[in-house]
Amino acid sequence: MSTAVVIGGGISGLSAAYYLQKHAGEKIGKIILLESSKRVGGWMKSTRHADGAIYESGPRSLRIVGKPGRNALNLIEDLNLENEILPLTSNNAAAKNRYLYVNGVLCALPNNLMGVLRRQDPFSRALLWQFAGELFKTRSDLEDDSIHNFFSRRVSKEFADIAVDSMCRGIFAGDCRNLSMKACFKDIFNLEKTHGSIVLGLLRYPKVPADELKPKLIQKARSEKWASYSFKSGLQQLSDTLLDAISNHKMVDIRLSSPVQKMDLKDNGRMSVITDEDEIQADYVLSSVYSKNLAAMLNSDNNYLKSHLNAISAVSCAVVNLEYEGNLLPVQAFGHLTPSSESGPILGIIYDSCLFPSHDSNEKIPTTRLTVMLGGSWSEQLKTNGSWMSEADITNMATKAVRDHLKISNEPIRSKISLLDDCIPQYQVGHANILSRMEKFIEDKHLPLYLIGSSYRGVSVNDCILNSKLAVEKIV
Ligand SMILES: Cc1cc2nc3c(=O)[nH]c(=O)nc-3n(C[C@H](O)[C@H](O)[C@H](O)COP(=O)(O)OP(=O)(O)OC[C@H]3O[C@@H](n4cnc5c(N)ncnc54)[C@H](O)[C@@H]3O)c2cc1C
Repeated sequence: MSTAVVIGGGISGLSAAYYLQKHAGEKIGKIILLESSKRVGGWMKSTRHADGAIYESGPRSLRIVGKPGRNALNLIEDLNLENEILPLTSNNAAAKNRYLYVNGVLCALPNNLMGVLRRQDPFSRALLWQFAGELFKTRSDLEDDSIHNFFSRRVSKEFADIAVDSMCRGIFAGDCRNLSMKACFKDIFNLEKTHGSIVLGLLRYPKVPADELKPKLIQKARSEKWASYSFKSGLQQLSDTLLDAISNHKMVDIRLSSPVQKMDLKDNGRMSVITDEDEIQADYVLSSVYSKNLAAMLNSDNNYLKSHLNAISAVSCAVVNLEYEGNLLPVQAFGHLTPSSESGPILGIIYDSCLFPSHDSNEKIPTTRLTVMLGGSWSEQLKTNGSWMSEADITNMATKAVRDHLKISNEPIRSKISLLDDCIPQYQVGHANILSRMEKFIEDKHLPLYLIGSSYRGVSVNDCILNSKLAVEKIV
């Protein structure tokens, strides 16, 4: 029987191990998950305080849309975790309302027809007219494009400078001038190719096949109009449950504090995976670690692959959770984002108490939980000589942003800072080519190596789970 080694125990590695034990039983006798740290979950980390307050230092909510969204719901149903879901329904203020902080003012993004029909700050023209013009723009034959250039061409430079710039800071903590439209928003990129227009393409967007909507939890999410969701104990409940599910399986061996140091391809087509304590002969290796970390494990026979893995950069973020006494939010919303022109390292603020109030402390006095996201492509502004500024200085920057943007001048009653190095891979223009060249190399050299994790085909938790499933399907 074959041995599969999964490198990394974040959500990608855990779901790969889960799908392997579920679907590859005939082909694989042993699954070894190697995780360098003392815990699994990777960036998924929820801290629960004694008074019940939950702080997320990584992902905080999952969306239900698209194939990745539906696949995650199927996994959750499979894990019997549906009763632990904390849905955010689309009639909730946090699902409906999003703000931008531009020119020192919070500006609501349109969320209804009236909003797109009339001019609204910070835009100089109604969004309807900006998008109506998109129908008549000429189709480009660029093989890839930056996200900023794509929207400047198709909608307007103003829309790209303000809305798209902020959105990319919110999703990728990255600069839309470098990020690849083809890799980050493939479906929208393809609408220009197939329909000559995003608007036309969206109007003719194919319906989801009925059988994909059949699973019980997907039907529940649709009928109750969920926009996104978390879990009663925070998002980490998902990685914890996956861990429980695979730990109970006799074919799975989970080894914490076991960093992979090296990998060698053997003549028999197997790979030897070397940790400080062991050398494992693997028939299949699924690597979920950041691409540059994988490059460091490979020997010089694989220099071509190494150089491509090293070409994928990642940004670092500071995440500051702040908690204040009282209900202090001036508006009810998911939160606000800032365009890079407004405030370099402050990417945005998430209004956690509005999103998931049941994650607030259960003390009698109400509190307001916020998360300030800083850094990303602008993290150099939080560093001196390549090292992070002190935690106190970064926390002060975060509280100042809360004071300036939300006019909350109280001091926080509690805070937590997490400095996350290389936490969000950046798919720059040309990323799709890097991927296809690596895939060809792996195939030509018959390497039993599968690239999963956020470095390649989507950074969202849903993408990570789906890509692990697809890799396992390839093996099976
Ligand atoms: C601040 C932040 C907020 C986010 N918010 C959201 C959100 O709200 N919704 C959403 O969908 N997505 C969000 N994301 C994205 C998403 O959380 C990540 O892309 C996803 O969790 C990545 O999971 P992964 O398993 O691929 O990688 P990781 O979580 O990085 O896991 C990799 C694992 O490999 C281990 N490892 C590293 N080197 C080695 C080695 N040599 N040997 C063995 N193990 C090793 C690491 O310790 C780690 O546990 C957010 C990300 C961040 C950073």
